[in-house]
Amino acid sequence: MEDTLLVINCGSSSLKAALFDTSFNKLASALAERLGKEDAFASMPSPSMDIPLQSGCNHRDALRAVVTAFRDQGLLTAAPVAIGHRVVHGGETFRQAALITDDVLQAIEDCASLAPLHNPVNLTGIEATRDLFPEVPQVAVFDTAFHQTLPKHAYLYALPYRFYQDWGVRRYGFHGTSHQFMANETARLLEKAPDQISVISAHLGNGCSITAIRDGVSVDTSMGLTPLEGLVMGTRSGDIDPGLFDFLKGKGINAEEVHRILNNDSGLLGLSGKTNDMRSLSEQAEDGHEPSALAIEVFCFRLARYIGAMMASLTQLDALVFTGGIGENSALVREKTLGHLRLTGFSLDPSSNRQHGKHTGGRIDQADSRFRVMVIPTNEELVIAREALDASHP
Ligand code: AMP
Repeated sequence: MEDTLLVINCGSSSLKAALFDTSFNKLASALAERLGKEDAFASMPSPSMDIPLQSGCNHRDALRAVVTAFRDQGLLTAAPVAIGHRVVHGGETFRQAALITDDVLQAIEDCASLAPLHNPVNLTGIEATRDLFPEVPQVAVFDTAFHQTLPKHAYLYALPYRFYQDWGVRRYGFHGTSHQFMANETARLLEKAPDQISVISAHLGNGCSITAIRDGVSVDTSMGLTPLEGLVMGTRSGDIDPGLFDFLKGKGINAEEVHRILNNDSGLLGLSGKTNDMRSLSEQAEDGHEPSALAIEVFCFRLARYIGAMMASLTQLDALVFTGGIGENSALVREKTLGHLRLTGFSLDPSSNRQHGKHTGGRIDQADSRFRVMVIPTNEELVIAREALDASHP
């Protein structure tokens, strides 16, 4: 009987599950989508199969169906030894992963006002998993925890200080598990101690953020109080002038609607008017669709500005590392972005840049580049599995 670790990531209408052995080899994964909708469905990529879900299926039933599928495939023959949950917001309470107790559940709930779309659904996943495996230790791994090392000058907004004191208004940062993985993986690849590595980590997926890591810890990051701040993303605007709220109010668009537009109708989708998908945008740009080309230009320029900004927090740089669906796969984005940064001494090797994509991380800078540039496929599930085992079996 093989000992296993289960990793759960609940989104508003989705559930991702991954199963690892205790040497951290991935045994299986499953994705349930459109939960709560008529056409809810779930599948496993390997072995490739659909997992039957009832119409309108909720997170709890989807979890049960996924676990049953793992069992039917002979992958889960006994209860897992630990279960790790991705939890989006840990506020200032959690600087590291936490073994889930009633107090921890309460603290996650207390952070829900900072992440109303995410923390409640993360709690649903934890409760459903607790019902299914009441004896198994469960661990919360927070997206924000890695950034709790940010110095005050990097996390404070220039707002009335009481906003921070009374309501916790500050930069928290997200994608922490991915940035942490990138720092450790860069250290491993460059044969340096993890607490001596300095990296700029660009996580570019549908959500995008960039982090400066000095001596292994996060010292600046682009996402803020919420994941809306910073880089241009698939449907999120990233940075805008806050004066926009007042301007649009004058046009009859209220704050709630602006918030929705900034989150769902902006970014690559808003600029191109077509799609938030970088692969499609690149194809359309090549076919002469100007708004798609423009969306890519704005995306890359903003990213370049942020790479420059992250240098303000570093005294040395071991590598600039790209990850996420876009960071790993888009040679075009990497090339355009670094094209803006020649003054800083970045220089890409065009052929290794084109070569590297998913599963083929590696070095893409030219011999004369002042800084190393690398592509590294991220693995947030692996970080969560490791943290789940560490926190539950110290
Ligand atoms: P993620 O959220 O990490 O899955 O990343 C999703 C983003 O990665 C989408 O914008 C995809 O279009 C983009 N992506 C995936 N594969 C490619 C590719 N081969 N070229 C360009 N973008 C890609």
